[in-house]
Amino acid sequence: MTVIGFIGLGVMGAPMAANLVQAGFDVTGFNRSPAKVQRLVEAGGRGASSAAAAAEGADVVVTMLPDSPDVEAVLLGDGGVLERLAPGTIVVDMSTIRPDVARSLAAAGDARGVRVLDAPVSGGEQGAVDATLSIMVGGDASTFEAAKPVLDALGRTVVHVGPPGAGQTVKAANQLIVAGTLQLVAEALVFLSAHGVDRERAVEVLAGGLAGSAVLDRKAPAMLARNFQPGFRVDLHHKDLGIVTAAARDAGVAIPAGSLAATLIGALRAQGHGDLDHAGLLLQVEQLSGR
Ligand code: NAD
Repeated sequence: MTVIGFIGLGVMGAPMAANLVQAGFDVTGFNRSPAKVQRLVEAGGRGASSAAAAAEGADVVVTMLPDSPDVEAVLLGDGGVLERLAPGTIVVDMSTIRPDVARSLAAAGDARGVRVLDAPVSGGEQGAVDATLSIMVGGDASTFEAAKPVLDALGRTVVHVGPPGAGQTVKAANQLIVAGTLQLVAEALVFLSAHGVDRERAVEVLAGGLAGSAVLDRKAPAMLARNFQPGFRVDLHHKDLGIVTAAARDAGVAIPAGSLAATLIGALRAQGHGDLDHAGLLLQVEQLSGR
């Protein structure tokens, strides 16, 4: 049986680790706040008291952590996981981090004979729970094939998109599209309300036309119910748009709408809403509109 060490059991990691148990893998998990390990234990996995202990003896180590410095600390830091792994072990980082950091992790793995993939995901908490995530994978093709059974237990659309870092580049593009779309969905809902139109019916018909999207399907109902429980925190989307704007600048690509979306997410965060779901963009449009 493939032995998996899973590090980072938050909104996404907890259901993903549980799905791996469900699929028959032997999973040991670690999270910085230990209460979250309990959910994995209840799902039939094992808990560990450190990242190194979770990775001990694993064939595959999965990380699902907030940001680039977190992944670097766990894999490369003092007593980091990478130096303890047997050659040939696969590390799959599924967090959303900077593409250049993903490339440096892959190089650090190469130097130790450890195979590292960047495999960020899209599909949100529901996608993690239902094992229907889209998983965009950067790294060596043979490592991708070796890790595919693990990824298939977590997602429905699993695609090898290129060399190390390519998965994170595709994820950055994903976050650009989601941020712009979400802002416009929020604006459309405030617009409809100002004109006295029934918004549920409006969303129903919009969803069937060219304006339809997964963002509209999943986030318009949350906005209409004024449910801003994460889901995907504003803080994390702000982090991702920082990645997007830096990567666009590095490549000399103009992203005027994306830059505006990044500013608007940043403003929502600056107003103290970093812990809300990003559907909270609605609140800012309402405020700007005096509603
Ligand atoms: P989260 O904050 O809920 O979970 C992260 C977990 O990592 C937390 O439980 C935290 O305690 C733990 N952690 C942090 N540092 C640690 C360390 N050094 N060692 C062990 N555990 C540590 O975040 P999330 O929403 O699960 O997102 C995780 C990643 O997935 C992020 O990069 C995010 O951008 C990405 N993502 C999130 C969503 C979403 O809808 N929430 C969707 C797609 C991608």
